[in-house]
Amino acid sequence: MLELRNIKKTYHTGDFSQNALKDFSLEFRKNEFVAILGPSGSGKTTLLNIIGGLDRYDSGDLIINEKSTKKFKETEWDAYRNNCVGFIFQNYNLISHISVLENVEMGMTLSGVSKKNKRKKAKELLKRVGLEKHINKKPNQLSGGQMQRVAIARALANDPDIILADEPTGALDSKISKQIMELITDIAKDKLVIMVTHNQELAEEYATRIVKMQDGQILEDNNQTNYEKEEKNSFKIKKTAMSFVTALNLSFNNIKTKKGRTALTAFAASIGIIGIALILALSNGFKIEIDNFEKDSLSDAPIIISEQAMSMDEETMMKMQGIDNKKEKYPSTNKIEIQQDMMEQVSHTNKLTDDYIKYLQKIDKKYLSGISYQKVTGLNLISYSENKGYELVDTKNGMMPWTLLPTNPNKDENGIIENNYDVLAGKIDNNVPGLILQVSNRNQIYSSTLKQLGLTEESITFDEILNKELKLVLNDDYYKEVGQYFIPNNDLETLYKSDNSITIKVQAIIRCKEEKEMLANNSGVAYTNALTELVISKNKDSRIVTVQQEKDYNVLTHQAFEEEKKENSKNTMLAFLGAESIPNSIFIYPKDFKSKDHITDYLDKYNDGKTESDRVEYTDMAGMISSLSGNIMDAITIVLVAFSSISLIVSSIMIGIITYISVLERTKEIGILRALGARKKDIKRVFIAEAFIIGVSSGTLGILIARMLIIPANIIIENLSSLPNVAKMNPIHAIILIIISVTLTMISGFIPARVASNKDAVESLRTE
Ligand code: ADP
Ligand code: MG
Repeated sequence: MLELRNIKKTYHTGDFSQNALKDFSLEFRKNEFVAILGPSGSGKTTLLNIIGGLDRYDSGDLIINEKSTKKFKETEWDAYRNNCVGFIFQNYNLISHISVLENVEMGMTLSGVSKKNKRKKAKELLKRVGLEKHINKKPNQLSGGQMQRVAIARALANDPDIILADEPTGALDSKISKQIMELITDIAKDKLVIMVTHNQELAEEYATRIVKMQDGQILEDNNQTNYEKEEKNSFKIKKTAMSFVTALNLSFNNIKTKKGRTALTAFAASIGIIGIALILALSNGFKIEIDNFEKDSLSDAPIIISEQAMSMDEETMMKMQGIDNKKEKYPSTNKIEIQQDMMEQVSHTNKLTDDYIKYLQKIDKKYLSGISYQKVTGLNLISYSENKGYELVDTKNGMMPWTLLPTNPNKDENGIIENNYDVLAGKIDNNVPGLILQVSNRNQIYSSTLKQLGLTEESITFDEILNKELKLVLNDDYYKEVGQYFIPNNDLETLYKSDNSITIKVQAIIRCKEEKEMLANNSGVAYTNALTELVISKNKDSRIVTVQQEKDYNVLTHQAFEEEKKENSKNTMLAFLGAESIPNSIFIYPKDFKSKDHITDYLDKYNDGKTESDRVEYTDMAGMISSLSGNIMDAITIVLVAFSSISLIVSSIMIGIITYISVLERTKEIGILRALGARKKDIKRVFIAEAFIIGVSSGTLGILIARMLIIPANIIIENLSSLPNVAKMNPIHAIILIIISVTLTMISGFIPARVASNKDAVESLRTE
């Protein structure tokens, strides 16, 4: 069943070669107790290692179960060591950081015995060797004799057919040696035991056969055997495999023995994670903060569609800064390139047609909080005051014309006006012709506004404003036809008092809500949509409009129209006189940021397939500002994360080094595991598992520390900017960072793990 045929083994050290076994042949019975005797250096250990599959012979053959082992694969040797052979060493070779019980279990763990079964078996064996009271101790809490008993129990764990003992009593006194020998003799009853010893007396007392060796050869064999036929195929070899959980457990126990160092490593490795986590938390928080701020302040900003649109996309912005990527820089030609005029590049003339207005009117109302179709209709208003008398009202807020109050398309909810303004007095009704006065957050208005309303007092009450009357004069009363031309009627008093004139009042006084600081300083006059409609309906068929429609010159100024100049065109004049019903600009107020996207999508859809000149462009200030700030924030984040990543890489390298040191420290353990049948793969797993544990702990630690650092960081930010709780950790970022940390440490642990798995088993066992 076990036979060595002409085995040769030579060791080479530098130029020197040592023949440890010279043409060595020996047969063993299935069941005998063989003692190998011989002086030091005669090749006994080499013989055992070759029989046990720990070392490889150079030539000859080792026959197991009739089968040559010449073509054995690594995995076959591993399986053979694991469940055919049990090793007992002179220096016990127990794994020091796991318990006695776990040491005995290890071989079974490697062969995949269930937890329950291996525990039961290990306890039985420990009882058999008389150590049932010590199963939870660590090996270094036992005496030498007790350690050797553990080693014997371990050797028996997988029920091997062969026990190989290399000077098992070499380190024990004679009394303990006898006890151990008795134990081994007991085992030898139904196994093949091959024991190397120096001690001739013990060998003669216990062994059934003594083989004496010298210089790698047999000197004497007192019970030589002939090959016995009935012993064929008596060994069972079954494959082994260590699970990752076992590897984890093994590494975890090992790490427990060096807690301080592991904690420091994990902490150092976590610094990169802390940095990145903090940066992400801050940028995440700032983004949320900016988003909220923009939503608050910009959601009320309208999308503007006017006859002249400024397109502000990235490409035109670049062009405005003179950046044209398509053109060569500093060309060496003597030619000059012609560039489009700046305004032409960025502006687009929109044709606001009836069709377009109809298209706009079909916008889903649920996205709107207000819409206004501005028309440049002139308002012929006359005011009266005691000290100034009758005056024509200048309908301008500073430079800009009075504004049209946006209408809310959703009758039963608040619109843009209700959301942004408090009505201090009166009541807004967009269906009634009238004016709205906005005061600043300090209840101020400009003196020019006061004058427009025919009021002159230094201070004035809401009631006085609401009671004040202005008179709207219609075109036919105001413009007198004189031959080919028209002149305005100067007799304002008669016009004011005429029955034809329509009384217009300030309907309401409004002021921006306290939380809408952006609008705080605005003041001025707005008018209701009904007022424009009234003026247009009354004036569109007036005499001056009819005449103007026929003439190519301005009937008031006598000037010829210049169609290319917007402000001096016939259309503008007609619009001013109230003949034009198409608005010159449209303000669309989205309900919120999401609605705005729906609206801009809808507006973009209009342009699908349209030619350049038929396209209608809109201006979305809020969108421009937010995309700009978002981009800047992203850029800053990327740069900072890149910097912190360097520390992450440094810490990965550090973990590689630490794992490598651990490999050096655990060389002995590697040897023991190999002797117990661990595959190279299993050894690799042990160290990858160690890196994995460090990776998980450093990742988690990093996230925890970052989470704690966020608290003071937020306090500092709050002091600087009065924004509370800015930094917020996104849980997804946290999970991704832990995964990155684990991946990096596993990668850096991979090389040391390979080194470990390639270590020679015999060499490893020899290290101390
Ligand atoms: P024993 O166990 O009988 O004392 P060994 O089998 O350990 O003897 O060694 C046999 C011979 O081989 C010795 O001369 C020893 O020096 C040599 N030898 C053993 N292992 C190695 C090795 N790994 N490298 C070089 N020489 C070795
Ligand atoms: Mg030896």
